[in-house]
Amino acid sequence: MIDDIIHKGSLSPDKICQLLSATGSEQKELHRAANNVAVTYRGNIVYYRGLIEFSNICIKNCYYCGIRKENKDVVRYDVDEAEILAAARYALKNRFGSVVLQSGERTDTAFVEKINRLITKIKEESNGRLGITLSLGEQTEATYQRWFNSGAHRYLLRIETSDARLYQSLHPDDELHRFSNRLDALNNLKKIGYQTGTGVMIGLPGQTLANLADDLLYIKNTDVDMVGMGPYIEHDNTPLTAQKKHLWPLEVRFNTALNMVAVLRLMMPDINIAAATALQAIDPMGREKALKAGANIIMPNITPTENRKHYLLYDNKPCTDESADDCLSCLNMRISLVGKETGWDEWGDSPHYFKRCEKSPPH
Ligand code: SAH
Ligand code: SF4
Repeated sequence: MIDDIIHKGSLSPDKICQLLSATGSEQKELHRAANNVAVTYRGNIVYYRGLIEFSNICIKNCYYCGIRKENKDVVRYDVDEAEILAAARYALKNRFGSVVLQSGERTDTAFVEKINRLITKIKEESNGRLGITLSLGEQTEATYQRWFNSGAHRYLLRIETSDARLYQSLHPDDELHRFSNRLDALNNLKKIGYQTGTGVMIGLPGQTLANLADDLLYIKNTDVDMVGMGPYIEHDNTPLTAQKKHLWPLEVRFNTALNMVAVLRLMMPDINIAAATALQAIDPMGREKALKAGANIIMPNITPTENRKHYLLYDNKPCTDESADDCLSCLNMRISLVGKETGWDEWGDSPHYFKRCEKSPPH
């Protein structure tokens, strides 16, 4: 039946909803089909991006997020430049190929300059070998351009949900949190020439399967190059947790998230899709299951260990007390357990980007 749905022309919202609710043998069939497409278009390879969550200081107040500005119980940290560079060196030494610089959102000059210096130094120190992805929220077009010129080449900015009303219900009603800002930011990133990534949270209070089907169609229409999406997981100290009674059961959020990955892979065969860390907060093998359902990117956490326990976007975040090495050895084993290979020392850029821009890959 799944095969029928997949092969009968383009996927309508109704067909997508049907696929998103697949369970049991239908779900297995869906994941197998998505994995086959991933292997055909992206190889049987998983690419690593060393994730450096270098600061939890944030000017925003997203209702779902544990490090929102108004959460006064968070111990704020800002890793200094030498330590961030040491983490990047670790990624280079361990042949990750790329790093992701992620933090709470800040737009002040000191922050913009710090990121600019870091990009320049990481490029210099690695002789251009390390690819740099940024995940630093909404910035002005000039800032995005500046960081791009300094050598960052990928940017992740989740739309969170493509439904403007749902988006606004998840954020304060002020200038800093407008849905239109998010759309403008994504447009600017593409215009400047970044490999652009977006994504959504799955199982948000008030979200429906039809919303998620629309999210997938939005992602396809936006023609992005990379996607990261995972289950919404409540954080006790956030306004959204008050709506707990409207939540989907964790297992449903988890399975729907895996199905979202699989359906997206069928819709966009040549993009990069990350196996979200939030999956692992629900099931210890969550990310590996995503790799078997069409995902091809993993972001091992290489944040200095003492800071990890303070970067809690949601409760039960995995690997917060392990050193980077511990995580890496178990991760390598897990990748081979699911029958995949690791793309050591490669950027693993999405071919979709080069097709979209009619460029040839640099690396
Ligand atoms: N400040 C930047 C980057 C850090 S947040 C930004 O907002 O883009 C990165 C992602 O974490 C967000 O896009 C959101 O999708 C996810 N996130 C935040 N809170 C979450 C939660 N409670 N459950 C699951 N994902 C969450
Ligand atoms: Fe800040 Fe990002 Fe969390 Fe929003 S999701 S509060 S911007 S860290």
